[in-house]
Formats: sequence, C-alpha cells, structure tokens
Amino acid sequence: MQLQSVGRPLADVALPAPEPARGQVRIAVGACGVCRTDLHLIDGELPDPKLPVIPGHQIAGRVEELGPGAARFALGDRVGVPWLAWACGECRFCRSGRENLCERAEFTGYLRDGGYAEMAVADERFCLPAPEAYEDAALAPLLCAGLIGYRALRMAGDAERLGLYGFGASAHLVCQVAVHQGRRVHAFTREDDEAAQSLARELGAVWAGPTARTGQGGSGAPEPLDAAIVFAPVGGLVPLALAALDRGGVVVCAGIHMSDIPSFPYELLWEERSVRSVANLTRADGEEFLRMAPEVPVRAAVQPYALADANHALADLREGKVRGAAVLAIGSG
Ligand SMILES: [Zn+2]
Ligand SMILES: [Zn+2]
Repeated sequence: MQLQSVGRPLADVALPAPEPARGQVRIAVGACGVCRTDLHLIDGELPDPKLPVIPGHQIAGRVEELGPGAARFALGDRVGVPWLAWACGECRFCRSGRENLCERAEFTGYLRDGGYAEMAVADERFCLPAPEAYEDAALAPLLCAGLIGYRALRMAGDAERLGLYGFGASAHLVCQVAVHQGRRVHAFTREDDEAAQSLARELGAVWAGPTARTGQGGSGAPEPLDAAIVFAPVGGLVPLALAALDRGGVVVCAGIHMSDIPSFPYELLWEERSVRSVANLTRADGEEFLRMAPEVPVRAAVQPYALADANHALADLREGKVRGAAVLAIGSG
C-alpha cells in the first residue's frame, strides 16, 4: 500500500520483491502497526517524504533473506523494525548517545519504504530482536506506540501522579508500564470517548475522564499531577496539562506533529514547571523496552485490519474509532 502523493489515499500496487542491499535483511512482514505519524505523513505534515513511499514503521516479521555482508540475524529470526531506520554514527548527537537526534537520520515508512507490504528491507543494525512471547500482531504496536511512549515516560522522571492526554495506542501501553511501576495514572480523553475511558480503567488508571475545557477551573483530575504526557496532536492540550501540574511538574509532548500551542499566562509555567518534547527513539530504548515488555507484561489491545484495508484503518484512527492500536495483519506469525 503506497503513498504516491500527499493528501491522496494509499494505492494498492504490485511491486517486485525488494532486494536487501549490503548490510540489510529482507523481512516477511507478519504485521505492521498503524501510527498517527502515518496520518501526518499522508496529510503532508512531515517535510520532504520520499515519494512514492510505503508507510509503516512498526514492522513485526521474520528475516527471509540476507543482503551481502548481513550476519546479525539468521533466516527465520523474528525482528521488529521501528521508526529509526538509520543514523550516521558520526554526528555530535550520535556520538553522545542521542542517535534519535541524528542530523542525518532516516526513518522507516517516511524516508525509506516501510511495512504496509508483504515484504520490507531494513538495515540489520537497526532491527530489534523480537521477543518470542508476542505474536506479530501483538508485537507491532510495541515498536512505536510502545517504545516511543516508553521514552516519553522516562522523560516524566519519577512522577508518581501521571496524566496521559489522548488515550490511544501509545497511552494504553504506557499506562500498563506506569501502573506496573506503581504510578497513579490519570487518563484524559475526548469528551464522549467512553471506550477509551473504560479501557484506561481496565488497565489500572485511577481516574479516567474528559479533558476539562478552559474556563471550567481545575483540570478535571482529582489531584494535581507530577507529569503529563500529551499524545494527542492538539496544541491546546499543553496549557491545560500545565494547569493540571503540581509545582516542578513536566509536560512531555510525545507526537511528531502538533497543532499550534496557544499562548498562556506565565503563571502556568512558574514554579519550575516545564514543557518538552520527545523525538524518535534510540536502539537502546527499543532493546530496553522489548526486554521489559514481557515482564510487565505489556499487552496491546489490537484492532486488526487486512493490508488492503489500510485506508480504512487510517480513517478509523483519524476519527478516533480505534480502541487500543490499529494493526495490519499481513502474513502468518
Ligand atoms: Zn548522527
Ligand atoms: Zn509511530
């Protein structure tokens, strides 16, 4: 399923099998997660995509062919392919353990073809060894929703009272980790999203409800928060999340794109509150999260779609009709 021009539905095309180049492997795709970033790509909100491009950066599958020099995996090994497809290893960010900020980074399903397909190629150094505890459809959402959510959770420090704004694919996974760590999770959803609120309560959130509108007074939550992670791409949530924080709290913006943040009184930032973003991931994040996930255990609520229904999956995600994570179930596994 290929994006041929921005703003158009994905086209169902037949392509030759991709040949793995030096250091690459070809993967038989078992499942690929559908991420909000894919909507931003299709809507032209990410600059300079490779076009045409196959979206999808939460690829779960098995290695089926090795390119020249590829030796990290054996045929049949299960791997996950995340958003970070390649980093230079030489820039000041790569050399300081921040390859997520690499100046020349390439990204799966955006600058390189991704996993909305039966096969994908990837640099073996950027594939993640996949735990056998998960089937492909259960693994796929962990590869972006899970691990970028996990990076955002780390940015929240040791916050005990945690707010999650937008309770979709990422938040429902982060919620499980946070509850496992003994944090008190507060889930903020759209006004009438009972499905998301009930999912949050099932997963251990102490409170779930709609985000209070400006002027209502208070955040809607029963207690002030030490940290809030904003997953929804809605800039207007940032001042609302700030207003929900206790002194010294942090708002972490976890999406790649967000509508403009409205101006707000300095008072909301005063007392050492802060606002920051989380960008991409490092391989270390991915390996750490995939090691920990089966121990929690993190379980994705999966809404499956056939590959040919990718446009339908994307439309459901756009309209907030996905409970948990949308996944394209492609091959076996
Ligand atoms: Zn670099
Ligand atoms: Zn993603």
